Amino acid sequence: MKIYKFGGSSVKDAAAIKRVSNIILSQDRCGVVVVSATKNTTNELEMIAKSSSLSEENLTSSLIHSLFNRHREIARELELDIELSIFELETELRTVSSSMNGEGEVSPSKMDSLYSFGERLSSLILSRYLQTVSTKNVILKDVREVLVTNDHWNLAAPLIGETSQAINKWGELTEKDLVITQGFIGSTVSGQTTTLGREGSDFSATLLGEVLHASEVTIWTDVAGVATCDPRVIKKAKFINNLNYKHAALLAHFGAKVLFERTLEPAIRKKFPVLVKSTLLPSEVGTSIHELPLKEGPVGIAIEDNVVTVVGESLLSKSVKFPFDAIRVHEIERQTDEFVSLKFSNEDIESAVEELHDWVLESLHN
Ligand code: ADP
Ligand code: ASP
Ligand code: MG
Repeated sequence: MKIYKFGGSSVKDAAAIKRVSNIILSQDRCGVVVVSATKNTTNELEMIAKSSSLSEENLTSSLIHSLFNRHREIARELELDIELSIFELETELRTVSSSMNGEGEVSPSKMDSLYSFGERLSSLILSRYLQTVSTKNVILKDVREVLVTNDHWNLAAPLIGETSQAINKWGELTEKDLVITQGFIGSTVSGQTTTLGREGSDFSATLLGEVLHASEVTIWTDVAGVATCDPRVIKKAKFINNLNYKHAALLAHFGAKVLFERTLEPAIRKKFPVLVKSTLLPSEVGTSIHELPLKEGPVGIAIEDNVVTVVGESLLSKSVKFPFDAIRVHEIERQTDEFVSLKFSNEDIESAVEELHDWVLESLHN
């Protein structure tokens, strides 16, 4: 059984939902689909929480109105008759939002309850659309029944033992079943809603992969894999077809946003591959992250603020020659055989990223 995860931009509107549905339909062995909130919804939920806590009632109401109308519009374009379910979610959200009214600051536990509506809405729409186009038994499941976490609000840690037990609540999934569920959210042992951290849906997918013994997990996003650098920053960045778990985890840790930091932990424990592919270009091979023999030299770079981290193998070996004559490093933050973090001034960072990236590509060719 395979698990597919779709990010917010992959489900941002009706056309995008049709696109991901085609991808799902083309794959017989996909048994579970994990979905993020539609693009920008989670940010809007934060705005709702803020305005509600400041008692800005008109603003709160109009933000809620516009968020729900956007989802109603998607449902209308997909010709889905789900107004009752959307209305129920809206009523519930208004209750949570009202309970924040006038508190001044947003309570982290209430924020988690509010966050849940983004993924609950997107999974509702995707599941109901798939019911109209798939021959499989499409079931919408609330991931909070099975994904158990501690109560570290807004950045909860999964409890694997409890989650492995709780997954039995979903019963035996047959090849005919297609479960649609939410990323990002979970629940404490006592049933309170939690979240795994912003961008955490990737982690939900691999956690479910672990407890459901999936053969692989595919992270479907808006780029065709993990590249040697963020392709939005460096146009000539190259997608890496095969990437070691460790290198992918380090890239994510040091700022490669394509994967949530903890995504690979369950995959490393259970040794299943994680694929990264593009919903816009599904026939591109993408990146397969798995156990691989490690070769000396750089693999890619990640950027966070003014720090550029080169990730690779045996980076401190004499034969690995960083282009230090071409860049002006402000400070070497940390260097190990597996990563070297370099800090640059605002004026030097752009050219340094280019130089370092050119050097990575050159090294990969040699
Ligand atoms: P999703 O909403 O699908 O989770 P994200 O925006 O979280 O998508 O992640 C995809 C983005 O990650 C890409 O659009 C890209 O700009 C960024 N990114 C950063 N570093 C890398 C990298 N090394 N390879 C690919 N994408 C990267
Ligand atoms: N919707 C959540 C966020 O925007 C989780 C995710 O998309 O992975 O942070
Ligand atoms: Mg993401």
